[in-house]
Amino acid sequence: MSKLRKLFRGSGRALALIFAASVLWLLFDMAALKFSFSEVNTQVLKEEMIRRERERGRVGRDPEQSPDGAGGEPRLGGLGRDQKHSRYKGGEDAGGAELDKEKEPRRRDDKRQATSNPTPKEVMVLHRAIPLKLWSLQPSGPLGKKVRENLEGEEVPSLEDQVVFISKDGAQTPAKQKLQADAEGNVTNRLIGNNVPVMDSKSKMPLKESNVTKVATSSKTVLVGATALGKVHKVNLADKDQLQKINQNDSLIPLVVSPQMHKVLTIDRTIAPRDPRAVGQFGRPAVVPREKQEESKRRWNEGNFNVYLSDLIPVDRAVEDTRPSGCSDLLVHNDLPTTSIIMCFVDEVWSTLLRSVHSVLNRSPPQYIKEIILVDDFSTKAYLKDKLDQYMSKFPKVRVLHLKERHGLIRARLAGAEIAKGDVLTFLDSHVECNVGWLEPLLDRIYLNRKKVACPVIEVISDKDMSYMTVDSFQRGIFTWPMNFGWKPIPPDVIRKNKIKDTDIIRCPVMAGGLFSIDKKYFFELGTYDPGLDVWGGENMEISFKVWMCGGEIEIIPCSRVGHIFRNDNPYSFPKDRIATVERNLARVAEVWMDEYKDLFYGHGYHLILKNLDVGNLTQQIELRKRLQCKSFKWYLENVYPDIEAPLVKASGLIVNIALAKCITVRESNLTLEKCDVNNKNQKFNYTWLRLIQHGDLCLALTDAKGTLGLHPCDKRNNSLKWLHKSLVAFHPELMDHIVLEHHPQATCLEVDQSQKALRVNICSTSNPYQKWQFGNYYAD
Ligand code: UDP
Ligand code: MN
Repeated sequence: MSKLRKLFRGSGRALALIFAASVLWLLFDMAALKFSFSEVNTQVLKEEMIRRERERGRVGRDPEQSPDGAGGEPRLGGLGRDQKHSRYKGGEDAGGAELDKEKEPRRRDDKRQATSNPTPKEVMVLHRAIPLKLWSLQPSGPLGKKVRENLEGEEVPSLEDQVVFISKDGAQTPAKQKLQADAEGNVTNRLIGNNVPVMDSKSKMPLKESNVTKVATSSKTVLVGATALGKVHKVNLADKDQLQKINQNDSLIPLVVSPQMHKVLTIDRTIAPRDPRAVGQFGRPAVVPREKQEESKRRWNEGNFNVYLSDLIPVDRAVEDTRPSGCSDLLVHNDLPTTSIIMCFVDEVWSTLLRSVHSVLNRSPPQYIKEIILVDDFSTKAYLKDKLDQYMSKFPKVRVLHLKERHGLIRARLAGAEIAKGDVLTFLDSHVECNVGWLEPLLDRIYLNRKKVACPVIEVISDKDMSYMTVDSFQRGIFTWPMNFGWKPIPPDVIRKNKIKDTDIIRCPVMAGGLFSIDKKYFFELGTYDPGLDVWGGENMEISFKVWMCGGEIEIIPCSRVGHIFRNDNPYSFPKDRIATVERNLARVAEVWMDEYKDLFYGHGYHLILKNLDVGNLTQQIELRKRLQCKSFKWYLENVYPDIEAPLVKASGLIVNIALAKCITVRESNLTLEKCDVNNKNQKFNYTWLRLIQHGDLCLALTDAKGTLGLHPCDKRNNSLKWLHKSLVAFHPELMDHIVLEHHPQATCLEVDQSQKALRVNICSTSNPYQKWQFGNYYAD
């Protein structure tokens, strides 16, 4: 570095270099601070999970078999029952109803508490297991990886001169004078403020001008002021010892200035609408006049929402700014990447499609919108052809791509991505309304790290009255088995304890799928969506697993908000059976990404096993995963979604007979009953999600028609090896302690024979204790 200095000494370039370095560092700093929420809480989460485990009194888990978070509610049924399978809403069997309730929208004037969650499910905070190695700016908050990488990896050219630390106790120090001297010849005294915000990097918000003392900076350069709080310290950020010392001193607050940033623009060309009394103006609920009720009902099916009202509402209506307070002060970078908006549609309602497009045009800084690509997925409606082309020809940035055959959402998005010219791809549904300031916060995240995938908060446009409603920010996108998307609220006590603000970025195990921004190059590096996925569904899971496991992150940015019409059913036809399509897609995702955990998927969506699904060729996807050196699903669960219950087996350990208090034992490939001994390997069994009772590679099986039992090589598809126990016999509660053959014409149970040494099966008898069994450990009921 000092060599570089010499090289440039005396020239303006030196300052420019320092300045560039300072900005770089600043960015990393900011990115890092934004990480802090999840990282701080890693520990909190772990502790909380352990505490809850203890409270449940679960004992004797077999550490070999159970990943974190065993246990839980019975979750039978699954995909087939989930008729309303949506990319946004959780399935009804999977806690989705509860999660949806939490996501209950409200209008701005609705005084209900946003975080009124009386019964949080499991505790969860976002989780990122990055050890805090070097230092932290905030006493309680570790910095993110980037900063450490740059401190350690020396990617940042200079770490000096970028930050001034302010202590609480006094006026400015000689450090300030030194700063002035450093900028010799280039110094101009000017007030920080106006177009250059001074940022308190603790609160991440600009300081009020009155809190900023006048200091000297060069016209181009760096830094920095003191607040009314006190003293200026100059710190050499390359000096790790010094940094560590500073970190231990919580009276020091870093203060940084960036001429490279600005407050997020709140462009809204609808702010003064032509007709403030128009139907639905400002996102107000619209009302169908009595004499139009019939018409409104009749037209519902055109979009599965109130199409009649949509048509009455101006296509450029204003909506209320629903961002949390503080968002309008958010700083974003001046040189953000451009984006191509990709909006796919099939038979979208005219007024809704137009409103979506206008909301982008009216509420986005034009310099960032490279284009809006409307992908017509072979719609059948005439108005979506020439009429649409003609209408959109007035807007030079809008391109319409008419596909020649039905691609389905997934492949239609890919067709849009192929022709996109922007740096970032922003996918939106065709029935949305982007709120003010929605775009820059998304692009800013990608600017900070191109492997971040940024999602807005999805707000609710009522399907009934078309009102625009805001939602609680403290929600994560998650999935429940067998891969139903859902929203999970962050419990209020966790929010309180960790001082999580409603402007804090939320890292999500999975994204809802409809609305997000992703760096275009990164999207292609990731192999886009699996093009083998059909029509609709499961693609949000696929991209989410892929992003996390292959080095990226998924975030919800609370300062970016976009309304979306949620509806109960897709208004368009599926080329093949809808449920079968989604199931096949999900199975494809499970096969490629879930490793050994795919058994949980099939265990919860059990009918899929019986269907013998043809998921198509997976070679390319598996290759891709290898080539990208993506992490395991186990890593994903442990690091990104540790609050999911994902035990690899349902039960394990000893299998104890209740009558005899003896255990099933493997003795020279025969089965006997012997005294129980937890250390005896020959008494260890697993009861798997696929209903096998497994000992190593062998499975408990009926060996002849007389009811003798033995061990067979395990085979997931061999139904004669499958047994029901506990919740799987909930339809016969009196047999829940029995082990019942699944595929047998008569209810047939495992029992001890009269010799009291051997096993056999017999007609089930509810009260017979020789037919009752208990596994050593249960991980799921
Ligand atoms: N879509 C499409 N082709 C299809 C299915 C859907 O272009 O075969 C579009 C659809 O018009 C919408 C987006 O993809 O803009 C997402 O679909 P939808 O809104 O039905 O999904 P949801 O929001 O219910 O998850
Ligand atoms: Mn949609």
